Amino acid sequence: MSYSFDELKEDVAEGRIDTVLACQVDMQGRLMGKRFHAEYFVESAWKETHSCNYLLATDMEMETVPGYKATSWDKGYGDYTMKPDLSTLRRIPWLDGTALVLCDMLDHHTHAEVPHSPRAILKAQVSRLEAMGFKAFMASELEFFLFDQSYDDARLSGYRDLQLASGYNEDYHIFQTTKEEDVMRAIRNGLQGAGIPVENSKGEASAGQEEINVRYAEAVTMADRHAIIKNGCKEIAWQRGKAITFLAKWNYSAAGSSSHIHQSLWSKDGEKPLFFDKDGQYGMSDLMRHYVAGQLAHASEVTYFLAPYINSYKRFMAGTFAPTKAIWSKDNRTAGYRLCGEGSKAIRIECRVGGSDLNPYLAFAALIAAGISGIENKMELEAPFVGDAYHGKDVREVPHTLRAATEALSGSKLLRAAFGEEVIDHYVHAAEWEQQEYDRRVTDWEVARGFERA
Ligand code: ADP
Repeated sequence: MSYSFDELKEDVAEGRIDTVLACQVDMQGRLMGKRFHAEYFVESAWKETHSCNYLLATDMEMETVPGYKATSWDKGYGDYTMKPDLSTLRRIPWLDGTALVLCDMLDHHTHAEVPHSPRAILKAQVSRLEAMGFKAFMASELEFFLFDQSYDDARLSGYRDLQLASGYNEDYHIFQTTKEEDVMRAIRNGLQGAGIPVENSKGEASAGQEEINVRYAEAVTMADRHAIIKNGCKEIAWQRGKAITFLAKWNYSAAGSSSHIHQSLWSKDGEKPLFFDKDGQYGMSDLMRHYVAGQLAHASEVTYFLAPYINSYKRFMAGTFAPTKAIWSKDNRTAGYRLCGEGSKAIRIECRVGGSDLNPYLAFAALIAAGISGIENKMELEAPFVGDAYHGKDVREVPHTLRAATEALSGSKLLRAAFGEEVIDHYVHAAEWEQQEYDRRVTDWEVARGFERA
């Protein structure tokens, strides 16, 4: 599946590839970058290229958000170095003659990694695990809604009367999802051809809702894949005049879209599943118990990285399969943290808190940091929750609002120590800006509710 620089050079020489996308991942988890002529890329740009440093200081709408320490109008919005990581090189089958490479973001002068770059943040936490002798394997599922209309039509209609790709709840439904194969088959085959091993797609628990599952991989590789999958799904739908949204909750009456994160720790060589102990309770090793205990202890602090927008919090509704409680349970979809693969080598913890709007690098990094704290402090794991967690009394809640999650993030000694003070301040600023932008807007709901009626 891998695609080497030599293979790229050969493809360019033979005229099979003429374009190379050099991409970095922004704070929102999107691919940003440049489209290189392949000949220039293999000759020169493969070593490094540059981008404006505001790309790690914007909001979803590419606003030049004031108040960041890292960059600003005052500092002149200079450059970062984009350093292609050639191990991420791949063909993009759904774009003619195109390959893609992900880049690390480096300081223009010192060439040190930019500390608040999402990829750098995850790499730092993965290095901590490696120093402890562990390798993290992750899988992030991605749910989304598919619409039988184009992005432009959706926008021009003011996002009203959107046409879902199906009229019924299509959870596991073969006939409903057969109708969506035009897009979904192209996504599965396109990703596979881009070196991302696809397990399956399936209908999800709402009309027009789909899920794509790919094979678990080492954490940075999985986050890279997640970012490419999201971009690919949008491009493939767009090519067919359709639209996909990864909003966590696009409509009050529909289910939310999640990005559940499956996690397990393995020996450094990736051979031995260290979460498995056949003699342990439920087949869990002590290491796994400590890791999960750490994630529960710090559940509120990491929530911002699992739910970074105002909209993310609309998804946390009882009885919708989106969790509201930060407890763990055995194979129980009402819990924030679900034990999967009990008693087998595939044993893992699935964090169900994240929405499909999360940035995978930041989410994985925060979960790993919380897990490491559990391991370092040998935290005891509480008994598993049994029953319907939505109605559980006196159980740990997932923060209900962006405001609450931001406060928990800002006050997190754990994340400040793990990511660095400036990095956390950077993301607290992003969160506060998001809140402030929302607070000053007048919504359709409040006007319809409050307008005088005759
Ligand atoms: P479910 O449908 O119950 O959520 P799946 O069997 O579809 O679970 O698996 C979900 C994801 O978990 C898949 O992407 C799979 O590759 C991943 N996975 C399997 N084993 C592990 C593991 N040991 N560590 C991390 N992820 C894993």
